[in-house]
Order: sequence, then structure tokens, then C-alpha cells
Amino acid sequence: MIPFSDAQNALRARVRKFTREELIPLELEAEMANGKLAPEKRHRVHERMIELELNGMCIPRELGGRGYSYVEQTIIEEELGKVTNGIWDLIYSPAVCLVAANEDQVARYVRPTCEGRRRDAYAITEEGAGSDPSAIETRAVREGDDWLINGDKWHVTSGNEADYFVVQAQTENGIALFFVDKETAGVKIYDAPRYMHTFILEHLKIRFENVRVPNANVLGELGRGLDLTKEWFRRERLMIAARCCGAAARLIDEATAFAKTRVQFGQPISDYQAIQFMLADSLTELYAARSMTYDAAQAEDDVNADKKLVHARVSMAKLYASEMANRVADRAVQIFGGRGYMRENVAERFFRELRVDRIWEGTSEIQRIVIAGSLLKRGTEAHIGDF
Ligand SMILES: Cc1cc2nc3c(=O)[nH]c(=O)nc-3n(C[C@H](O)[C@H](O)[C@H](O)COP(=O)(O)OP(=O)(O)OC[C@H]3O[C@@H](n4cnc5c(N)ncnc54)[C@H](O)[C@@H]3O)c2cc1C
Repeated sequence: MIPFSDAQNALRARVRKFTREELIPLELEAEMANGKLAPEKRHRVHERMIELELNGMCIPRELGGRGYSYVEQTIIEEELGKVTNGIWDLIYSPAVCLVAANEDQVARYVRPTCEGRRRDAYAITEEGAGSDPSAIETRAVREGDDWLINGDKWHVTSGNEADYFVVQAQTENGIALFFVDKETAGVKIYDAPRYMHTFILEHLKIRFENVRVPNANVLGELGRGLDLTKEWFRRERLMIAARCCGAAARLIDEATAFAKTRVQFGQPISDYQAIQFMLADSLTELYAARSMTYDAAQAEDDVNADKKLVHARVSMAKLYASEMANRVADRAVQIFGGRGYMRENVAERFFRELRVDRIWEGTSEIQRIVIAGSLLKRGTEAHIGDF
């Protein structure tokens, strides 16, 4: 494991305290109210995000963000991952693909989002295009100085909170990303489906019907939309791995504490090897996932690293950490017994919530495709040796 600097240890202590003392106490209210939190509590979390300098974490300082390194972001997200109900998503950063924004877009979108005055949401997935985003049918057609966008998007996370969307659409020159303000005529939220988890934010279905945006709202170059999305996915995959490590650590702590005090047949259940082995396997797998995750974060921070190899390492970290966390949650439910099946129990909530980490930002199968493709091209040593 990498040795953290004093500043990184201080950052971790700051986020850990925030998570323990201010975020975890909100979980039950969110769970029992189907993901809703009192507005004043949400407002307080928002204020604390800024006070604790956790806003705009992945965006460089010159664009208004905090410019944390990948290792630092991993430290932050690992701690935030200990909280259920997606409360971590109230500590938001604009997507890293926004570094492609021009000066005008930085002023209108990126800087205000970093400062917590605006909120973004990403509209890539469609009914017919998920793992294969190149299959999207949303079209943007040039009309003079404007673009006319038509299409439906699914699963748009934080769509209810956002005041603008980054929309991926096909153009004559390939796939591109567009800033679309929520208030633009023709933007219609047409469904807010219920999901397996009880999440603090909605995942919406949104229709873009003859939505007119100026050419000034194209993010990056036309035709480079998929590349930008890919870079953004890499960062999000690493952060999923980090949060899964945090979730597993909390589950192991809570299940261990319970096992030490729960007495059956006259002894704490922690005396039974069946229980010890579940805890031992969980800790071992967490150690492996955490080592991989911080190693991949360090590789991201290495300016000389081959980005294709980093991409594969991040996929390995996301694949392993998300599957590990699901196994740990399953064992934790088992250790808690009937209590583990109650919504008031952290293991029950994580058991449902961690499932999506094997699906979003590229399913486990897609991560395996990325890893295998890189292995076939570059060989084993390139991936496990230093680079
Ligand atoms: C809660 C939630 C929030 C989300 N938030 C957002 C968001 O904010 N913005 C956004 O744009 N999207 C979002 N998504 C969408 C998410 O990224 C997609 O669900 C994901 O990429 C998978 O796409 P799909 O659901 O269409 O599944 P599909 O691509 O249809 O896959 C179905 C199954 O087939 C497998 N499969 C597909 N292709 C292959 C292959 N080549 N080889 C082997 N197996 C394959 C998959 O692994 C999966 O098991 C969200 C999804 C969820 C569930």
C-alpha cells in the first residue's frame, strides 16, 4: 500500500470525521423516506462540502476545481463510500470530461458547478444503447448557428437536482457532447422509475424534443464525444472501486462488532469458525481490492504512464472491487442473520446498493472485455509490472 503523505492523512481524517459524524447519521432518515432527506439537512451537507473543500474535486484549480490528485480523490471517495443511500453523491464534482470546455463554457458551466452553484447530469445511455454507447440514436442536426437535438435518454442520475445536462448525440461528424440547460424548451422528464437501491437522487428518463442549443454549447471537438466519455468513465470506474473499498471496510467493521456481542448457544458467534472464515475472506479480499485501487490511482497520477495500460488497471480495480464488495455484503447479511434482512441494517442497504457497481460505468463483462483486449495486445508483464 502506498504511504500517504501527512497532507493526505489529514485529508482522510477530515473526510472520515465528516462521514462518521454528519453523513452516516442521515442514512436511516433517507432509507425510511425512500431516499428523501429534509431540505435543510441537504443544504447543510452542501455547505459542508464547500467548507471542507470537497467540491470540484477532480477539476484543475485553474478551471475552478480543487485539483486533487487521483490518489487524493481515491482517499475522499473511499471514505464517502462508507455511507449508504448514495448520500456520497451529494458531494459532487463535475465530470472530468469537462476539462475539454472552452473559456466561455468554463465560465457558464464548469466554474459554477465546482463552486456548488450549478449541478450537472450526464445523458449518455438510451433504451437501445447501454454497453455500446456508439449505438445511440439521439441526433443533433446543425441549423445555422444552432443545433437541434432529438432523442430519449435513460437512467440520468441526479437529473432531478441538475440544472444542466451533458448530452451525447450523433452528428454528421460523429458523436459529440452538448451542454443543454434543463430549462431549454423541449426538455421533458417523462419518467422517474424506482430502482433496487433507495438512492438520494433520481435516475430519470428524459426526452429531448427539438431542443435548440447554440453551437457554443458543443463540448470539445465534434466526433470526439466517445473519447471524452471514455476518459470520464475511467475516472468514475476508479471512484467506484474506491467507494466499494469503503463500503466493504464498514461492512466488515460492523459485522465484526456484531459477531463479538451476539451470543448464541452460550457463546459469541465470533467464536465460531464459520463466522470467522466469512470475516477472514472479506478482509483478505478487501486488502487485495484496496491495493489494486490505490495502485491504479497512483498510475493515473503518473504523467509518464501509458494511458492504455492505466485504463486496463482501472478496469481490473473496478471489476475486482465491485465484485468483492458484493461478496462482502452478502456475507455481512449472513452474519447479521434476520437483522441483516431489515432495511434499518447497514448490510441490507449495502446488499441492494452495491449491486449497481457491477453494472454502471461499464458492467463487469465490459471491464473483462477491456482487460482481455489489453492483455491480448500487450501481454501479462505490461499490466502487472511497473510502468
Ligand atoms: C442506477 C443507474 C444509474 C445510471 N446512471 C446513468 C447516468 O447518469 N447516465 C447515463 O448515461 N447512464 C447511466 N446508467 C446506465 C448504465 O451506464 C448502463 O445501465 C450500463 O452501461 C449497462 O447498459 P445497459 O443497462 O443498457 O445493459 P446492456 O448493455 O443491455 O447489457 C445487458 C447485459 O449484456 C451484457 N453485455 C453487453 N454487451 C456485452 C458483450 N459485448 N459481451 C458480453 N456481455 C455483454 C452486459 O454486461 C449485461 O450483463 C445508469 C444505470 C443505472 C442502473
